[in-house]
Amino acid sequence: MHAIDGAVNRMGKQNGSCWWCFKAVKWIPVIFILTIVAWSYYAYVVQLCYCIIDNYVQKGFYLLFFHILFLMFLWSYWQTVFTELMPVPDKFKIPDVEMEKLQQAETEEVQRQILERFAQDLPVTNRTIKGAMRFCEKCQLIKPDRAHHCSVCGTCVLKMDHHCPWVNNCVGFHNYKFFMLFLAYALLYCMFITATSLQYFIRFWRGELDGMGRFHLLFLFFVALMFAVSLNSLFFYHCYLVVHNRSTLEAFRTPMFRTGKDKDGFSLGKYNNFQEVFGDNARLWFLPIFSSFGDGVNFPERLCNEDTHTLLGHGTQQWGDDTDFDSPPPYVNQVHH
Ligand SMILES: [Zn+2]
Ligand SMILES: [Zn+2]
Repeated sequence: MHAIDGAVNRMGKQNGSCWWCFKAVKWIPVIFILTIVAWSYYAYVVQLCYCIIDNYVQKGFYLLFFHILFLMFLWSYWQTVFTELMPVPDKFKIPDVEMEKLQQAETEEVQRQILERFAQDLPVTNRTIKGAMRFCEKCQLIKPDRAHHCSVCGTCVLKMDHHCPWVNNCVGFHNYKFFMLFLAYALLYCMFITATSLQYFIRFWRGELDGMGRFHLLFLFFVALMFAVSLNSLFFYHCYLVVHNRSTLEAFRTPMFRTGKDKDGFSLGKYNNFQEVFGDNARLWFLPIFSSFGDGVNFPERLCNEDTHTLLGHGTQQWGDDTDFDSPPPYVNQVHH
């Protein structure tokens, strides 16, 4: 996959039609998911509820809950796929003059000093394994904390979690909450279908159902069960990551700080970690509307006391002087001019 995408990026600059071709191919997993979801809608609503179930109360109850989960799932999926990930702010970009100096630098040590000098006022605490400033050659910028370069998207992504081909987008700071809700609603959707179609699945095996509809029902039960099992582990793994304040990339490679490696370097306590992704307004927790704390660039460093329940305690200074949770994050202004 990565080899192909590397090729995509290289070809993108050389051959326009090829680039469009690969761009189209990357939508195939999304189209695949949408096709399965559309078919599951037909199988559940038409074949099960309309053709098989006789009881009106049961039919109404099934259809109501099915549609709530169906719409919440589609909304979260849409938001994960189409949320545009904001670029790294301009202050991290290395000016051409500095880039020339970097290219002309004869030793690694000189390069290191140039980067250190440029980044001295930037809010970065992450370092490379060797203790140097993290720098992206392709985007020509100092990588903000938790940002990584995605070879598929061809750009640096803030608080990158991973690149997900199923949503044809990177999962990062701006859509991580949507991704979590997408997993949660997809899991609930599959569990609901599995649970409510079970008794009809049993009737199918007893030979009590006739017509073509029973085959839709058979596949519906199996497909929903299969997706529920695989989504289950993925969803609970991400719940674990959220409460420990780790991205998938950080779970695989412990982040390096000025003071050394620390797998819990961004953890503020379980509840604060949850709030950093989902916000402090409980009414928005279950809706795919952006409510994460911060700006994707400044991350408060770990508090010593894991039980503390305020992010604004020791952490205030570290969010920067002009940033607090009531004002719009700085990138909002940067995007529109
Ligand atoms: Zn980059
Ligand atoms: Zn990506």
